[in-house]
Amino acid sequence: MANQHQVKAKKHLGQHFLKDENVARKIADTLTLKGYENVLEIGPGMGVLTKYLLEKDVTTYVIEIDSESVEYLKNHYLTLSPRIIEQDVLKFDLNLIFKNRPFAIIGNFPYNISSQIVFKLLDFRKQVPEFTGMFQKEVAQRICSNEGSKVYGILSVLTQAFYHAEYVFTVPPTVFHPTPKVDSGVLRLIRKKDFVLSCDEELFFKVVKTAFGQRRKTLRNSLKTFNLSDNLKANSIFGKRPEQLSVQAFIELTELLNQDKG
Ligand code: SAH
Repeated sequence: MANQHQVKAKKHLGQHFLKDENVARKIADTLTLKGYENVLEIGPGMGVLTKYLLEKDVTTYVIEIDSESVEYLKNHYLTLSPRIIEQDVLKFDLNLIFKNRPFAIIGNFPYNISSQIVFKLLDFRKQVPEFTGMFQKEVAQRICSNEGSKVYGILSVLTQAFYHAEYVFTVPPTVFHPTPKVDSGVLRLIRKKDFVLSCDEELFFKVVKTAFGQRRKTLRNSLKTFNLSDNLKANSIFGKRPEQLSVQAFIELTELLNQDKG
């Protein structure tokens, strides 16, 4: 790729530019383009993925923190120019752009903030029906994992409560510049039809985070701060550890806690 050295990679920004056009196209092609007119690409860099998005019948916005990359994009993608947001995705209020309308999220993410990007997605779940991201392979696998797995955790439960998660394919370090030390994996999320939970959602987030905060303990111990009644503590679910609970079981647990309060 002729342009790969135009922006010197900055390690602290997690810059690993994709060199393989096929991989870029395959990532862009995971979008169904149904149910939204806008797409947000996070961390476009020099636009390897962006140019395939621009071929599609959607309006593409990009958010990029690195001014040198922004400069490059402005010079090379003139039609994109008004929709380049030079901001930190974690700090920027996306509704200044999307104004409560639906949008898809896509990107070859900076791996140092990829978990935080997923939390940001969860904040915007009511507006985001679809999400495709390149992650460090282990992180993508962790998000897709099920109960009983050692890597099943907060991100797996919270993401799968609202989205169907699919690990799409593995990408070797050799297709990036500079080459990362780890394999990468593309993860695809499609929002569930019933993405509004039957339980109190705020309490659900709190329960999942608290339970996995002490993942070796039984729920009876890790959820002490919720002031469980003796009656509730007798329920066999509290003898379990968080990794033994499916997403549905966490929803039921949240309902139990809510009833206990009331
Ligand atoms: N998508 C490009 C670049 C991937 S590297 C490609 O595949 O080649 C990750 C990109 O995310 C870099 O361009 C980096 O500058 C950008 N980035 C890092 N932290 C960011 C943040 N907080 N907000 C927005 N962009 C960020």
